[in-house]
Amino acid sequence: VVPGIEPSLAKLVREEFDRQGVRVETGVGLRGITRDDHQLVVDTDRGAFAADMVLVSVGVRPNVALAKEAGIRIGPTGAIAVDAELCTSAPGVYAAGDCAEAVQLVTGESTWVPLGTTANKQGKIAGANATGAHERFEGIVGTAAFKVFDLEVGRTGLGRVELEKKGIDFIVSTSKHATRGHHYPGVKSVTTVLFVQRGNGKLLGAQMVGGEGVAGRIDVLATALHAKMTLDDLAALDLAYAPPLAPVWDPLLIAASSAQKDLRKAT
Ligand SMILES: Cc1cc2nc3c(=O)[nH]c(=O)nc-3n(C[C@H](O)[C@H](O)[C@H](O)COP(=O)(O)OP(=O)(O)OC[C@H]3O[C@@H](n4cnc5c(N)ncnc54)[C@H](O)[C@@H]3O)c2cc1C
Repeated sequence: VVPGIEPSLAKLVREEFDRQGVRVETGVGLRGITRDDHQLVVDTDRGAFAADMVLVSVGVRPNVALAKEAGIRIGPTGAIAVDAELCTSAPGVYAAGDCAEAVQLVTGESTWVPLGTTANKQGKIAGANATGAHERFEGIVGTAAFKVFDLEVGRTGLGRVELEKKGIDFIVSTSKHATRGHHYPGVKSVTTVLFVQRGNGKLLGAQMVGGEGVAGRIDVLATALHAKMTLDDLAALDLAYAPPLAPVWDPLLIAASSAQKDLRKAT
């Protein structure tokens, strides 16, 4: 569901499915879906599964057929190449949303992350520019969050797979901390993974899984990526503390100081 999620965090998601009584089968070959009198039957190479509803989730691809037909340049990601004003290679023709590329601000390279957040911002800017404005869309860091039953999951920036592909020298630091004051009723835990550049301590990406407060915290990390912050910058942030809302050392500050230690060990 989250491309490139760290195995340690994927395990937490898997455990939540188990806790909720959801059986997860992976690596199963699908042969077909049929309907008998009462229900759907999913036929696989590991037997048949009965179902009331089948949701087929096979990923997405940018719909660039019209652009290709018009001879508009397609970028390295397979989506439509656009400049900072969201203009395509055809002067006066703009592209926005799931069909268009954006700049990944961490690397400065073209990326394709089809999300409603980007589509809305790009659409507003492309619309303005098509009517004579010169607004710019600087780029994205790839922030997303979702909920699996009682667990919240978030990501921003680059993960292990993208970093290895780009040959960036990085460390991965994992920490776990309380979401509220330690003895406050209802306290939950959150696990944070930070990806940090070896040598200069630049924050490259982050992933979080926890019982509460993940989206707000991943947004802080997205802000840190926009601002090109280092671990030292992150560790020095003045974040709120009140027992019902956050511990005195917020999980983000704990994550930053653990990563500082891991970085020192690795250099
Ligand atoms: C199940 C699901 C959940 C999602 N959840 C989130 C989320 O939580 N957060 C998030 O940020 N993003 C989410 N997204 C992604 C988000 O919905 C998309 O990124 C966003 O809708 C893209 O907007 P768009 O305008 O580029 O494309 P679309 O919303 O796909 O709009 C394109 C429109 O163009 C029309 N169209 C296509 N071809 C033609 C044609 N030839 N002529 C005329 N009209 C045409 C289509 O019918 C459609 O109405 C989710 C997507 C899905 C599928």
